[in-house]
Amino acid sequence: MALEESQQPNQLHFLVIPMGSPGHYIPTIDMAKLLAQHGVRVTIVTTPVNTLRFGSILDQAIQSGLPICFLEFPFSYNEFGLPEGCESIDDLPYMGLTRALMQAYASLQKRVEQYIENLNRMPNCIIADTFLLWPGETAKKFQIPRIIFDGMNCFTQMCNHVLYLSKVYETVGESEPFVLPGLPDRIELTRSQLPFAFNPKLKGINDFNEKLRVSESEAFGVVVNSFEELEQGYVDEYKKDKGDKVWCIGPLSLCYKDESEKVQRGKKSSINKHECLKWLDSQEKGSVIYACLGSISRVEPAQLIELALALESSKRPFIWVVRAGHKTEKIENWIDEVDFEERTKDRGLLIRGWAPQLLVLSHPAIGGFLTHCGWNSTLEGVVAGVPLVTWPQFQEQFYNEKLVVHVLRIGVSVGAQKTVFWGDEDKSGEVVKSEEFIKAIEEVMEEGKEGEERRKRAKELGKMANKAIEEGGSSYQNMTRLIEDIKNQARTRNLS
Ligand code: UDP
Repeated sequence: MALEESQQPNQLHFLVIPMGSPGHYIPTIDMAKLLAQHGVRVTIVTTPVNTLRFGSILDQAIQSGLPICFLEFPFSYNEFGLPEGCESIDDLPYMGLTRALMQAYASLQKRVEQYIENLNRMPNCIIADTFLLWPGETAKKFQIPRIIFDGMNCFTQMCNHVLYLSKVYETVGESEPFVLPGLPDRIELTRSQLPFAFNPKLKGINDFNEKLRVSESEAFGVVVNSFEELEQGYVDEYKKDKGDKVWCIGPLSLCYKDESEKVQRGKKSSINKHECLKWLDSQEKGSVIYACLGSISRVEPAQLIELALALESSKRPFIWVVRAGHKTEKIENWIDEVDFEERTKDRGLLIRGWAPQLLVLSHPAIGGFLTHCGWNSTLEGVVAGVPLVTWPQFQEQFYNEKLVVHVLRIGVSVGAQKTVFWGDEDKSGEVVKSEEFIKAIEEVMEEGKEGEERRKRAKELGKMANKAIEEGGSSYQNMTRLIEDIKNQARTRNLS
C-alpha cells in the first residue's frame, strides 16, 4: 500500500527537502526520523545516491513501521557537468563545481511541483534546507507553510544578525579584534574570522546571502538543531527576531540509540564496527583524543602533518580521521615515508575516509575531541560530554569556537587566526604549528583543577542534552509545539 493511502485522516504530512552535503543532509534525515516518531507522515525528496545513503540508516526505522518514504528523482549530472554519481559537496572533484551542484538541486523544483500537483491532499508543511531557495517559490505557489531547516545554532544566527545590522566589521582592519555589539556575552572576533558573507571581496557570495536572508524572512519559521538550555539567551533573542517561530528540537543525533544505527549514519564507515570498538575497549577511560575535521574541510598536507606530529608527541592514545579527497596522495605518502603508523602503533588508530563518529564519541574511552567546529560535530561533542580542542576552518566555525570556549567554557582553542577559503586552501598562509596543538591538547586533558572543571561542565551539558530530547524535555516539547503550530495552520487553511 502506498504511504499516501495509508495516511490517517488527521495525520500531518511533511515534505522534507535536504541538501547535498553531509553536514546538512545528516541532521535533516535525523529530523525526518524524529518527526515520524512524533506521528507525522514524512516524505523525503531524494536522488539516486542519496537514497542509498539515507536508506541504509532509515531502513530499520521504516521496517518497524515509521511513516517515512522517499520520493526519488533522477539527478542531472551530465546537464550540469557533474561527475556521474556526484550529489554531494564532499564528492566534488574541485570546489569550483559547487555552483553546478546547486543548479542541479534547483532543477528538482519542477519535478517536486508535479508531484504536489498530483497529490489528493497537499502536504501540510515543507521543511527545506536553508541553502535551497526554490522551495520558497514552491511553497508560495501551493500556499504550503515552509519551514527552514537551519544547520546552525541560535548563537550563530544572532552573531550574523548583529553584524549585518551594525556593520561594525567594516570599520576595522583584517586582524583587529572587535566586539560584536548587543549580544548576551562579550564575543570578540576579527574580520578574517568571519563567514564568507561578510567578505566584501566575495560579491557572488554576498548576493547569494542576501537571497538567503529574504528567503528566511519569508519562511513560516526555522527549525534549529540545538537545545534551549545550551544557549538560552541566544534562543530568546532569535525568537524575538522571528516572532517566536523558532523551534530548537535537537540534539538530533540523539535519535539513534543502537550501535548498528550509529555506525551507518552519513556514509558507509571505513572501519568495521567491531574493530573500532575493540580498539576503543582496549584504551583507558577518558584517555583518547579523537581528531576529525568533518566532511568537507580541505586541510593542506603541510598542516595535517603538524597535527599528526602533535598527536604523536602528546603521548596519549588517539584516533586520527584522514579524510579522503583533498590531496590524499600527498598525506598518504608522508604517512608511509615517515612510517607514522608503525611509530604510533601502540596508541594510535588511523581511520581513512569516513569514521563512525557517533559510535566513537559515545565510547567512554574518549577524553577529548579535536574538532573543526562544524556545528554537527560540535553538538555531537557536547552530547558526548567531552571537552573540545577547537580548530575552526571556515564559515560559522569561528562563532562555534567562541560559543564552546568563551560561553560554555568546555573547550580550548588551538589559536587559528583566519578562515580558509574553499579552493584557495594553499594560499591561506596560516599554519597552526604542532606545538600549538600540543598545548591545547594538554590543557584539555590535564588532570589539574581547570581541566577537571572543564570536564565537569562538559559532562553536565552532555546530561542536559540527553534530557532535552527525552519526553518532557525542552526539545521534545518544542517538537510538539512545532507540530501543533502546523496543525493550527492546516485548520486555518481549511476554514478559509
Ligand atoms: N562525520 C562522520 N564521520 C566522518 C566525518 C564526519 O560521521 O568521518 C559526520 C559528523 O558526525 C557530523 C557531520 O559528518 O554529523 C559533519 O558535519 P559538521 O557540521 O560537523 O561539519 P561539516 O562536514 O559540515 O564541515
